[in-house]
Amino acid sequence: MTSGRVDIAAKPPGIEGAGFFATSLEKVVGLARKNSIWPLPFATSCCGIEFMATMGAHYDLARFGSERLSFSPRQADLLMVMGTIAKKMGPVLRQVYEQMAEPRWVLSVGACASSGGIFDTYSVLQGIDRIIPVDVYVPGCPPRPEQIIDGILKIQHLVETESLRRRDSEEYKTMLNAYGIE
Ligand code: SF4
Repeated sequence: MTSGRVDIAAKPPGIEGAGFFATSLEKVVGLARKNSIWPLPFATSCCGIEFMATMGAHYDLARFGSERLSFSPRQADLLMVMGTIAKKMGPVLRQVYEQMAEPRWVLSVGACASSGGIFDTYSVLQGIDRIIPVDVYVPGCPPRPEQIIDGILKIQHLVETESLRRRDSEEYKTMLNAYGIE
């Protein structure tokens, strides 16, 4: 449903009739989480400038309910890593991730965060997925704001469709343990 130029979040699938609407808790929680993601921008270099453009009036991330940036990991759902991550910075990034409460998601923005980019050197981490799990990768050097928004939309899809029990599953714990995270 649309109102003017603003998309209104559609109601989740369910059963409806005169005076009632029934759906599952999982779908309602997914809908609420999807449209109120609080990102933590971890921007270290030029990709961060593209993110600033994404937050500006023209691209306006507020359209997706994500205008409230969090610079405290404890009040963030989405870690957005944008820029070159030096190996010395790796432990800091990991600590930020560990301080975020579950459920948490990670968006790797740009070639540097995803693979080290052009910096195939001794000092640069060759992809943040060597130290923390990543949910969505955004390609490009730099990615345009449209690509960053596309990454956010993919994260939104994950958030909306994720089972409420996933974070308690053995599979998820095994994945975290593979990164040495309890
Ligand atoms: S991917 Fe390109 S634009 Fe982004 S931080 Fe690396 S060098 Fe800069």
